[in-house]
Amino acid sequence: MSASENGLKENLEQLKESNLYRSRRTVEAVSGNYVQIEGRQVLNFCSNDYLGLAQHQDVIARFKSAADEYGVGSGSAHLVCGHSAEHHALEDELADFTGRDRALLFSTGYMANLGIIAGLMSKGDVVYQDKLNHASLLDAGLLSGATFSRYLHNDLENLSIKMQKHPDKPSMIVTDGVFSMDGDQARVAELAALAQQKSATFMIDDAHGFGVLGKNGAGIVEQCQLSQKQVPLLMGTFGKAFGTSGAFVAGSDDMVETLIQTARTYIYTTALPPAVAAATRCSLSLMQNESWRREKLAALIQYFKQAARQLELALMPSETAIQPILIGGSTEALAASEALLQQGFWVSAIRYPTVPKGSARLRVTLSTEHSQAQIDQLLDALKRISL
Ligand SMILES: *Cc1c(COP(=O)(O)O)cnc(C)c1O
Repeated sequence: MSASENGLKENLEQLKESNLYRSRRTVEAVSGNYVQIEGRQVLNFCSNDYLGLAQHQDVIARFKSAADEYGVGSGSAHLVCGHSAEHHALEDELADFTGRDRALLFSTGYMANLGIIAGLMSKGDVVYQDKLNHASLLDAGLLSGATFSRYLHNDLENLSIKMQKHPDKPSMIVTDGVFSMDGDQARVAELAALAQQKSATFMIDDAHGFGVLGKNGAGIVEQCQLSQKQVPLLMGTFGKAFGTSGAFVAGSDDMVETLIQTARTYIYTTALPPAVAAATRCSLSLMQNESWRREKLAALIQYFKQAARQLELALMPSETAIQPILIGGSTEALAASEALLQQGFWVSAIRYPTVPKGSARLRVTLSTEHSQAQIDQLLDALKRISL
């Protein structure tokens, strides 16, 4: 890749020719699960707002009232004067929710992952990651300077073999809880046991599990009943089922205190707006106390899967709100996404390098706000474009 003007043009042309060029669509208005793009209302099947909380009246009201109280910006980093009572209360509530000693807020999930991994690991250590982990985790592994080893997706045997190569080095095993582009779940109980056996620190990024998995919505560690000892680093984001923005890590007192001292993406950045923390507190309370959203979502997921199977669509092994349909080629995936949009459905095409070459897909995401009738409409459209 060349950064000269001529080189840029050439690279961009190449991306376009191989159908790997990425472009944005502008959302002009939002109304429930419909969004307006290019002047048309389309039904949204690609949002990560799984419980519909981004537009919940109470969440919006809390956001507004906290903005009245605190202003819009936090004014500085947490360690200067940006740490408000709303941030602090949210951290306490997240610690309770996850059954951990403490929680620490970050401004985004990407930054949380960079800060956690690079703040704890360095040259001479080893970071083991699932090949399909989120890009922010992979980038964090590289940034840390530790030896970086990627194991085959959900393959503990492969991981064990890799770990035998570095038996005595301090190490960390890192996995998505729910894989963001596949929707399947990590074998977290077995990973936790392996980590314990090898004295490795175990970290789960459960961005897509919170709100969706577990009786109270506390994600994959609640579903699999994994303690703080078994999963010393539990990370979650607010941009998905919480419907807001930001992220957190939960763990022991010493773990959180250490990250406050060492995580550069915590220290050197402006704290989330207090109003975002306040809105997230409201989301958290709805997530915990109104389990009907999670139950309705689970029923919609089953409904979609069963109906899609009848159409012989190439579903992937997912029990979560992420229900990708495997297409294969980037060109075909892009064409399918475009054809759906023409019919009024927004489903994004996920291509290389976000997913491996040859496994481009339509990433359908379901939300509590969808109805069975809307899922039927999407499936009819999928039938018409005959994948
Ligand atoms: C979305 C996501 C992130 C990044 O979170 P942001 O708050 O959007 O930066 C990290 N990890 C996973 C698994 C994600 O899906």
